[in-house]
Amino acid sequence: MTTKIPFAKPNLGEEEIAEVVDTLRSGWLTTGPKTKRFEEDFARYTGVAHALGTSSCTGALHLALASLGITDGDEVLTSTMTFAATANVIVHCGARPVFADVAPHSMSVDVADLERRITDKTKAIVAVHYAGRPCEIVALRAIADRRGLKLVEDAAHAVGARIGDRGAGAWGDAAGFSFYANKNLTTGEGGMLTTPHADVVARARVLRLQGMTRDVFRRGEASALPSWRYEIVAAGFKYPMSDIQAAIGIHQLNRMEASQLARRRIAARYSAELAGVPGLTIAQPEAEGTVHAWHLYVVRIAPGARLTRDELFTALAARQIECSVHFVPLHLQPYYQQAWGYAAGDFPRAEAAFEEILSLPLYPTMTDGEQTRVIESIVELLR
Ligand SMILES: *Cc1c(COP(=O)(O)O)cnc(C)c1O
Repeated sequence: MTTKIPFAKPNLGEEEIAEVVDTLRSGWLTTGPKTKRFEEDFARYTGVAHALGTSSCTGALHLALASLGITDGDEVLTSTMTFAATANVIVHCGARPVFADVAPHSMSVDVADLERRITDKTKAIVAVHYAGRPCEIVALRAIADRRGLKLVEDAAHAVGARIGDRGAGAWGDAAGFSFYANKNLTTGEGGMLTTPHADVVARARVLRLQGMTRDVFRRGEASALPSWRYEIVAAGFKYPMSDIQAAIGIHQLNRMEASQLARRRIAARYSAELAGVPGLTIAQPEAEGTVHAWHLYVVRIAPGARLTRDELFTALAARQIECSVHFVPLHLQPYYQQAWGYAAGDFPRAEAAFEEILSLPLYPTMTDGEQTRVIESIVELLR
């Protein structure tokens, strides 16, 4: 019987398990000392001044936009080729999600198309590092500066990605990272907001927990007020990271370098051995001067290939090889069509890509034998 090759698999060790047990025995389960330690470690790792642990990347992105002042009637630009979370949080802020198409030769947003869509209502750009390949963040930073916009990085795929001498997350006014189970660094569920701005992290910290603050009682000389006193200064959210999640994250971060090396090695082998397969190209190759985090290895199956993308997906599934598709462009989703007036035909490059893309199995513990099975199956099916 052939064993199943999963699409993704977390890379967890005894250190994570021991730290979770230690947390459970400590009696402190919610945001506490381990979250603080993970936040400090993560800030150092990404080279950004402030990091705030959250219950998800969705929460981190929502807090980022809200803390940057995005509100009713604003417009926020992003790519149509992303996960629902990226745009849903724009809507949660009361703003209009304004999509742009992907670039001609990658799955990242087309910078010129995005810039054309700026209006006097545009307040921010959410830049997505699709698959872990850095998007054109230097150009987007320049546009944001020139046009007076906030820049938020959706770095859900991009722990470990770099652009020049700076990591992903170090270019925006804020960034959100995901620690969902299938992401490069996982805490089961979880996320992190990073920002260079002290006022943004202060605001996000309050919004993370119900808009609750005790600061007002701490100001000045030691107050005689009891410790249970707090004030609600905004209708905040409930997005905190727990110390159970942070316990996993601390050791996942220690494991990042090894995990990323393994991902690079697996990606390099896919690139070498799938080159020249008729009708197959790599959708998101590493760009000059950047480091790809290889969260996803995405190929494109051209219209003239022996099998369509859907046929290839089904044939691989029959061989117990699990693939995926990232993503259905958001402008094709019923909600975004009904609520915001998008329609098929709006973003032709993203639509063409959507028909052709396939994400192959990729995880640090993937064995050579497993990868051989994936490669040989694809070669056989498309030849
Ligand atoms: C996974 C993902 C998110 C959301 O992450 P969660 O931690 O699940 O909230 C956001 N953006 C992109 C591009 C993602 O893939």
